[in-house]
Amino acid sequence: MTTAVMPSPTPSKSMAAVTRYIIGVDLGGTNIVCGAMPEDGSREIAMRTEPTQSTQGAEAVVDRIARMIRSVVDDTMAETGARRSDFLGIGIGSPGPLDRAAGLVLMTPNLGWQNYPLRDEIVARAHLPATLDNDANCATLGEWWRGAARGARNVIGLTIGTGIGGGIILNGQLFHGASDVAGEVGHTTIDSTGRRCKCGNYGCLEAYASGPAIAERAREALAGNEESILTGMVNGNLAEITAQTVYEAAQRDDDLAREVVRDTARFLGTGIANMLNIFNPDIVVVMGGVTQAGDALMDPLRAEVRRRAFKPAVDACEIVLGTLPGTAGVVGAVATYKASIEGTG
Ligand SMILES: [Zn+2]
Repeated sequence: MTTAVMPSPTPSKSMAAVTRYIIGVDLGGTNIVCGAMPEDGSREIAMRTEPTQSTQGAEAVVDRIARMIRSVVDDTMAETGARRSDFLGIGIGSPGPLDRAAGLVLMTPNLGWQNYPLRDEIVARAHLPATLDNDANCATLGEWWRGAARGARNVIGLTIGTGIGGGIILNGQLFHGASDVAGEVGHTTIDSTGRRCKCGNYGCLEAYASGPAIAERAREALAGNEESILTGMVNGNLAEITAQTVYEAAQRDDDLAREVVRDTARFLGTGIANMLNIFNPDIVVVMGGVTQAGDALMDPLRAEVRRRAFKPAVDACEIVLGTLPGTAGVVGAVATYKASIEGTG
């Protein structure tokens, strides 16, 4: 169970009829998203995004988060008539690995932090109790609570962007493992002698199917191939190709881009087939920028899973896109805080 750190003064107890609110923070390498929800998760309030600007250092980032939290509280009070004492606390989602009990970010390449006491730094500034969990765990929980995986018992979530994160929900609860590492689907090996991954391992799923890996494979395919419209889309500057450029070219029926998307589907399908055979989930939710590729990605992805996983596991499992683009992490951060005070986290 995650420990909620109580700052002073302790928020006063509200009456039963009063709606209480939880704040969610989704800290990413590029953006911070923050907003509030009533305890029952019925709606998103005062949702906002700001660039992380991690090069300014950890202090500047947490100051920015604290300012965003203050604005969310003010806007929620103005919109709903809530009082300051109606805010229960803050759920924080952060890239990991983490030590949840201590509220520490142990290491994060994207932010350049080591052993950073993120939870307590936010508690000290926002004067509300807070919990810390992995960002992809939060996004998966968000889709389970309010999005595409509602009502499921066993859920695997994948967030595909700059990296590939993952989350596992078993019997309606996030599974964290022995030291909060569980769910790192992006760093499972799909080719034992394959591409080098940022984590130091070779052949991780992330090294093939993250946004930057998709762009890199497109650049490699372009070498010696002048047919693709990709070259023109970036005015010949291949360094400007992103995963997004590849999806757009694929939508315009560019053969090379379609091939890159099909390969991406094969890699993701391989990783997801492994998850099906280990966890036998009833739903897999695919989230993040890759979802823009739509059916061009999902159809061959489902076919690859069918080819590789045991049939009863495939038959029992839906593979779907997330339905909370941009806010799954915040919604799930709220849910992790809620679970911590209810003792189910
Ligand atoms: Zn890796």
